[in-house]
Amino acid sequence: MNQKLGIDLGERNVATAVAISKQNPKPMKGKFWSGAKIREIRGKYAHIRRNLQRKKRLDLVKQIGHKEKTIVNQQLHIIANEIIAYAKQFEKPVIAMEKLDGIRENMNGSAKLNRRLHTWSFQKLQQYIEYKANLEGIPIVYVNPKNTSKRCYRCRHVAQVNGREFRCPKCGLVYNRDLNATINIAHALKRGDGGAVNPLNSQMKS
Ligand SMILES: [Zn+2]
Repeated sequence: MNQKLGIDLGERNVATAVAISKQNPKPMKGKFWSGAKIREIRGKYAHIRRNLQRKKRLDLVKQIGHKEKTIVNQQLHIIANEIIAYAKQFEKPVIAMEKLDGIRENMNGSAKLNRRLHTWSFQKLQQYIEYKANLEGIPIVYVNPKNTSKRCYRCRHVAQVNGREFRCPKCGLVYNRDLNATINIAHALKRGDGGAVNPLNSQMKS
């Protein structure tokens, strides 16, 4: 029997993973990868870029962006390896992830570049997970991201989310926000709300 795993990508936690199955009693314990280190790197480089932009050194702004990518990349590889190691402890794992949104283009200058790098790091992490999962023969399914963070995993009520905890006004569930979203992603896989199943669809680009 396949063990279904949800993986959510986010700000506070770069990644949250949880395995669900009929044998697993609730509540489910997930695994979290903190975003602190990447936030620290991004904050540092955003600051450098703002200063360079003020000095009109746009040539250097691009260079700095490249350097930031290299450093963030190393972190993303480590996280992707750990996610695959986590998945491998389960029987015949299948990984579900959200389809990512496109890049917002209504921003200028450093704000736009910051957003780009942010979206880039999510896409990169998904690619690394996909690539490494493929090497291990672990299938990846992309699920519809609609309401995954707003929906209560227990009663499926859709609520507004404020702060780090998901609080369901209908059934009273109080749960870690990222873990709730991750369980919903795994449930989407169970219900068959999936998209592209072929992990070979996207190619590795550096
Ligand atoms: Zn609920």
